[in-house]
Amino acid sequence: MTSSVGRRSCAVISPSGIADKRQLFQKESIKTEKLIITAAICGAEVTKEQNPAVPYTLEEMVREAKSAYDAGAAVIHVHVRWDDGTPTQDRERFRVVMDAIRAACPGVILIPSTGGAVGMTPEERLQPTELMPEMATLDCGTCNFGDDVFQNDMPTLRAFGKRMLENHIKPEYECFEIGHLDTALTLARKGQAPGEPMQFNFVLGVGGCTPATVPNLCYLVSQIPAGSTWTVTGIGRHAFTMAAAIAMGGNVRVGFEDELTLSRGVLAKSNGELVARVVELAKLLGREIATPDEARRILSLK
Ligand SMILES: [Zn+2]
Repeated sequence: MTSSVGRRSCAVISPSGIADKRQLFQKESIKTEKLIITAAICGAEVTKEQNPAVPYTLEEMVREAKSAYDAGAAVIHVHVRWDDGTPTQDRERFRVVMDAIRAACPGVILIPSTGGAVGMTPEERLQPTELMPEMATLDCGTCNFGDDVFQNDMPTLRAFGKRMLENHIKPEYECFEIGHLDTALTLARKGQAPGEPMQFNFVLGVGGCTPATVPNLCYLVSQIPAGSTWTVTGIGRHAFTMAAAIAMGGNVRVGFEDELTLSRGVLAKSNGELVARVVELAKLLGREIATPDEARRILSLK
């Protein structure tokens, strides 16, 4: 069902570029699900020097999560920092932060990161999966990340997939590149990572990776299996361009991890402000916002 929604705007053009008349004429019967907004409240790389509202401490993390939740986010994507801002994948830090966010944001879906920060070992990165979250991110390949390389070789991906299978964690398959989607599908097909229904996050606009354009997004969405759900993350100035997903039946992620401003030169005062912008766009386009409970159903978590 959701996949049909996901393909509504795109799959009328098949990968070969030939219009599929059946889908063109079926569009009235396709039900559009409510919009799931994910807030990526701090990431691992952004700093208070760039935007003073970037959260490091427990109190700041809760403040930012609650601002996003109150504005309409059903999902919080979680990285954690030590109080001085240093990124960490420490299991106990995740436990404390996630418990506090759950207490402040009843029912919210938490997706801890297994990407961590560039340079961390796979073992370090996997720590939050020991807390048995209902979902976690799974980055689907190696790519440049600024001047660094974000390492995700196949043995690492298989280890992450195995952990998620064992701990019954639904991956959010993060694809920065078109080839990452192929890797995710291969892992799932071989039973090396959880399979359908799959949830994808297309992270577009990272320098040197797949650019954040609507045609690129349409192509990616046209390649996902029936029954999948998808979210798009537009990096930096592409954040709100990629909210094109609202009209395409997909879902949207925003937050300080991905962008620090509401518009050129205007810093967002909170993650809530970024989420509110997406809510506003959704309202204009006539799409309702999913509650955490509704998001859980759409993502097949219950
Ligand atoms: Zn992240």
